[in-house]
Amino acid sequence: MKVKVAILGCSGRMGRNLIQAAHEHESIELIGGSVRSSSSFAGFDLGELAGIGAMGLTTVTELSQLNEAEVFIDFTSIETSLENINWCKEHNKALVIGTTGFNDEQVHRIKEAGQSMPIVLAPNTSVGVNLMFKLLEITAKAIGDYTDIEIFEAHHRFKKDAPSGTAVKMGQVIADTLGRDLNECAVYGREGITEERSKETIGFATVRAGDIVGEHTAYFADLGERIEITHKASSRMTFALGAMRAAFWLSEADNGFYDMQDVLGLK
Ligand code: NAD
Repeated sequence: MKVKVAILGCSGRMGRNLIQAAHEHESIELIGGSVRSSSSFAGFDLGELAGIGAMGLTTVTELSQLNEAEVFIDFTSIETSLENINWCKEHNKALVIGTTGFNDEQVHRIKEAGQSMPIVLAPNTSVGVNLMFKLLEITAKAIGDYTDIEIFEAHHRFKKDAPSGTAVKMGQVIADTLGRDLNECAVYGREGITEERSKETIGFATVRAGDIVGEHTAYFADLGERIEITHKASSRMTFALGAMRAAFWLSEADNGFYDMQDVLGLK
């Protein structure tokens, strides 16, 4: 039996890749997708949007028009994703959220929703990135206490939030492993007379340029040597394929709040 999936925000950069990934996935049946009510892509064929030829499914502007779906995949905006949670909860739908940039209070709300629906919050759905989180944990455990830890990320010029959700999650994984509070030890950018670096801090640096799909590096630097753990995404299809994995996994999960580590069995 195929899992019936709908894509929210399907005219976006990720949305178009998600359509293609869903179409090509052997265990997923794409039943439709949404665009904003004011969108010039309302009523467009999903396949045409993704550049893979007409599929006979047209974009809709109301979630109720996608009621046939079991799992919704949402790569839209913070406000929209938070609204979509309520609708999915009321209609007993599972939800994969790929949108990034939620603050602590919003993440708390999403976690609470997990008490009455199956929900995956995945600021990065790439399998490689989630494996990298595991490598960061191992490295932080071994050398994190005496090395300088810095996180660098680069993305395309259109990205709206910074640092990326993935960079923040990298910092969170390292801070949790070392028993630090990221809110207290994070340093976001430096300018002017910054004085010597304090050992406890975790620094973040951001680049926004051109069409960079997504690059992340964690430095664990000592005097005389350093380890760099890097992930580079070269196509958005990697995120789209990971989102399909999450949707398929979530279709069989109980109510709960999950992340990609759950989906990939890395916990
Ligand atoms: P984008 O701006 O190209 O696409 C977002 C789309 O959502 C737009 O087409 C917009 O019109 C649509 N949208 C907004 N409100 C809507 C609504 N109410 N109904 C229907 N559609 C609506 O952005 P993008 O690059 O595709 O990224 C989208 C989000 O996904 C961002 O938060 C981004 O950071 C995140 N992202 C996550 C991953 C991941 O692996 N989880 C990977 C890439 C991007």
